[in-house]
Amino acid sequence: MATIKLQQISKSFTDHIAVAPFDLTIEDGEFLVLVGPSGCGKTTTLRILAGLETPSAGQLFLDEKDITNCEPKDRDIAMVFQNYALYPHMNVYDNMSYALKLRKLSKSQIAAAVEKAATMLGLKDLLKRYPRELSGGQQQRVALGRAIVRQPKVFLMDEPLSNLDAKLRVQTRAELIALHNKLKTTIVYVTHDQVEAMTMGTRIVIMKDGFVQQIGKPIDLYNRPVNRFVAEFIGAPPMQFLSGSIVKNEENLIFQGDGFALNLQGRGEAASEIYLGIRPENLHLCTEKTPNSFSAQVLIVENIGSEAIIHCDVGHEKIAIKIPVPQTLPKISEILFVIPGKGDLHIFAKGSEKSMA
Ligand code: ATP
Repeated sequence: MATIKLQQISKSFTDHIAVAPFDLTIEDGEFLVLVGPSGCGKTTTLRILAGLETPSAGQLFLDEKDITNCEPKDRDIAMVFQNYALYPHMNVYDNMSYALKLRKLSKSQIAAAVEKAATMLGLKDLLKRYPRELSGGQQQRVALGRAIVRQPKVFLMDEPLSNLDAKLRVQTRAELIALHNKLKTTIVYVTHDQVEAMTMGTRIVIMKDGFVQQIGKPIDLYNRPVNRFVAEFIGAPPMQFLSGSIVKNEENLIFQGDGFALNLQGRGEAASEIYLGIRPENLHLCTEKTPNSFSAQVLIVENIGSEAIIHCDVGHEKIAIKIPVPQTLPKISEILFVIPGKGDLHIFAKGSEKSMA
């Protein structure tokens, strides 16, 4: 069992707040991802969990035990760093067994633990190699192996995939998910990559400038972002925002944008200063004008094989539409009829940037 509770945890450095106070309970077996742009406070939060940073205020519990002032080595938490931090003068076996030797386990216990982890991670043939003789992906697995043999209650991972090339990153991402399914150990994982967060996290904490913006399951962050920042951060290509107002016309709520109007299909309420948020993948083409569609003129077509991004002029705004590649792609200057998926429109208040619907 490993439940971590953060109670009003915060961290300030001399002249600024790195992490503003927040509460979070990380349940046993969760794969919790801390995500956000550079400098948002995710590494500081992870270092507080590891005991490498003392919080300015708040309390930290591991399974109901207050570990706020506990030494890192006494926390039963293993950290995997971005640069792997392997000992260069030790081979893979010694790197993986080092912590167990410190714990004074017997040679046979150590050999059994290393063998088990090395098998799981596909490292059995590499045990005699030194870190400099390994690829980035292999080094990353050794760093993981070193954490696994300790059988910690919690793994903390700080951008462990960031030194890998794109292909290896995708592969290792899948391996980490499989590893978590097998070990079922609580993982807290830091990344600035929303795709990693969405694919790996059972829950995501999204941060900006030291403030937690939203905590939730990946799909909830995607479907119900609480503010414009979350809406834009989660999803690729990102959500696009059109500036305008909402007016009530008889029974219909109409978004009045710059040079065009759109029936909101019952979403929202009359408001003067809003952003309408639409994801490119939530726009669809239809063959004729319908009450809920709007017209768009094609500017550029980007065909990426399985799908195409069509960039269009809509009134005086620009909008991107992501569609599966049809047999014939639209031509430049062609007028398209575009319809948003029902329930796929997001409305944010200008100023507060908060979601209104
Ligand atoms: P990145 O993705 O770039 O690693 P991050 O989200 O992990 O960013 P943190 O490393 O947690 O961000 O830093 C949060 C803020 O605290 C930043 O403004 C950073 O400059 C600041 N900071 C971090 N460590 C210290 C320190 N030891 N002294 C002073 N300021 C610090």
